[in-house]
Order: sequence, then C-alpha cells, then structure tokens
Amino acid sequence: MLLSEIKTVWAPCPFCGGECRPQEVTLPLCRERNTYVIVQEIPAEVCQECGEILFSVSTAAALLGLLNGKHLPIATNHVPVYRFGNDSTSSE
Ligand SMILES: [Zn+2]
Repeated sequence: MLLSEIKTVWAPCPFCGGECRPQEVTLPLCRERNTYVIVQEIPAEVCQECGEILFSVSTAAALLGLLNGKHLPIATNHVPVYRFGNDSTSSE
C-alpha cells in the first residue's frame, strides 16, 4: 500500500456504503525508494462489506510521521520477494 492510497474518510464506506467498524490492522507500507515497513496495531475502520480500510486524518498523519521520522523499529525481519508466475523452485 502506498501512502497516497491511504484514505481518510470515515464510515459509512465511501465505496459500497457498507458499515465500517473500528479494528486494529497490520499493514505493509511503502517508503520512498521501494523500501517497505510493516506497521502493527494501526487503529482503523474496516468496511464489513468490501474490506476497505479507512483511517482518520490524525491516524494518517501519525503514520506519515512514523514513516518519515527516526523511530526505531520494534523488530526487523527479512521479507521474501516473489515475482508472480515465477515457478522456479529451490531446495536450498
Ligand atoms: Zn465497503
């Protein structure tokens, strides 16, 4: 998910009109230069119909601050990268 894709509109769901409920979500977010971070326990509203995830303006601003700031991560994991359709296998 790109930061530009973060939507800051509150319920009802602007896409399907469904009911949005508060929920904590974990999302991969893209920083500049194709680096990704995973942010856990983000307060959001999730559409019960289509699954759209919505953030308040303050939460979106806090996410931007988190991504652009100098906060230390709570953990660093290696993330496997796949190309769709690549069926090569490795036994390592
Ligand atoms: Zn929806």
